[in-house]
Amino acid sequence: MNRPSLKHFYIKSFGCQMNSYDGERMSELLESQGMKAVEEAATADLVVLNTCHIREKAAEKVYSEIGRLRRPDGSSPMIALAGCVAQAEGAEVLARTKMVDIVVGPQAYHHLPELIEKAASGKVVDIDMPLESKFDALPERRQVGASAFLTVQEGCDKFCTYCVVPYTRGAEVSRPWSRIVKEAHALVDKGAREITLLGQNVNAWTGEDEAGRSQGLDGLIRALAKIDGLERIRYTTSHPNDMTEGLIEAHGEIDKLMPFLHLPVQSGSNRILKAMNRAHTAESYLTLMNRLKEVRPDIALSGDFIVGFPGESEEDFQATLDLISEVGYSLAFSFAYSPRPGTPAADMDNQIDPEISRERLQRLQALLNQQQFDFNQQTIGRKATVLIERKGKKADQMIGKSPWLQSVIIEAPVAIGDLVEVTLTDAGPNSVKGQFLDQKQFATA
Ligand code: SAM
Ligand code: SF4
Repeated sequence: MNRPSLKHFYIKSFGCQMNSYDGERMSELLESQGMKAVEEAATADLVVLNTCHIREKAAEKVYSEIGRLRRPDGSSPMIALAGCVAQAEGAEVLARTKMVDIVVGPQAYHHLPELIEKAASGKVVDIDMPLESKFDALPERRQVGASAFLTVQEGCDKFCTYCVVPYTRGAEVSRPWSRIVKEAHALVDKGAREITLLGQNVNAWTGEDEAGRSQGLDGLIRALAKIDGLERIRYTTSHPNDMTEGLIEAHGEIDKLMPFLHLPVQSGSNRILKAMNRAHTAESYLTLMNRLKEVRPDIALSGDFIVGFPGESEEDFQATLDLISEVGYSLAFSFAYSPRPGTPAADMDNQIDPEISRERLQRLQALLNQQQFDFNQQTIGRKATVLIERKGKKADQMIGKSPWLQSVIIEAPVAIGDLVEVTLTDAGPNSVKGQFLDQKQFATA
């Protein structure tokens, strides 16, 4: 293929927050090469699709997305398929569609500049998994929003029987302490007031501090909380088995650590949890949730659920509904089980009829939606700090996040990056309204 030198790129990220972070880093990398980001694929010379392979629907969506990149005159931009579909399918992608020029896995995207050059004379695949070198090879952080992501841990060794992550993201690796602290300072210098630490299993993060002492995620959070100008810290996604007492206590002791925790449980049935290879029980999960409520009574709790896992009976499903009722979630993500090629659960012979899964998912989501609305209502009348993140739909509206990760709509002359004091007024299913009180920030929620 013979294309003029590439000037404009467009990146579309699908799936998890780690993909969003990777998308930002690829964007910084391409800008450091003199290219410019554009808002639409139609005006780009290079389109990067940063894909998700977690469920079949997400993976398949990519191929229709690629088809849409063909222009009316039959031409197309250079297309790089990145992310977990690229990792899982590798060269097969090129057999499935002629439109893709570059296939690059989540651990190899720092090679993009060389891959683009090579792609001028033929299709290229890079799904190497070198340790750490990706982060070392990336340029410095650039302008970021009020709330920024920072990947501290990648990969997973848990091998839940339904999940592709250990295969697409590789083994569990923690980034070194010093690099994380350096990146956090850079983000704050560029305007971030909140940092969300990311990892497939973020609470499995381990490392050594500058004095050589071994530390867990709670130690890292304590160190980051000392950074002037950094007002809020969050972390996601955690696994119940890595939820240490030290990390739980941190929620009661560190004001900058926001009163919110996303802790997926997947099912309330011990029989199903065992078949999922989750290595925790419904009871041990509830014990953790109760400890968190003890140390931080106003903590908002969130989770992930899978319904219709192979062999799930109505009784197992009822156990999940019971667990949800006991915890009381402020926010949750729920999915119908999707068999993924190469995972043990895909070969189990007791697959559930998709119609039954769909019906269970509806019942589960009705309960979770009700809990989210109830949570929003319970917060009405509370004073809270809100970090303003973006403009709202109406001209005078701004939208920010409460400490409990609710979207808060404010009508007041405030700017992105402001931390403002509000009284929460009206509750909707997905957001609350905030009555502006003051620009003054206060230390705790
Ligand atoms: N590490 C996190 C944990 O242990 O819960 C989750 C990471 S995974 C990227 C995000 C969520 O996708 C999971 O919590 C699970 O609910 C869902 N998920 C993963 N594999 C799935 C599958 N095969 N079918 C349906 N949902 C799935
Ligand atoms: Fe997937 Fe999370 Fe299980 Fe790892 S712990 S295999 S990322 S669901």
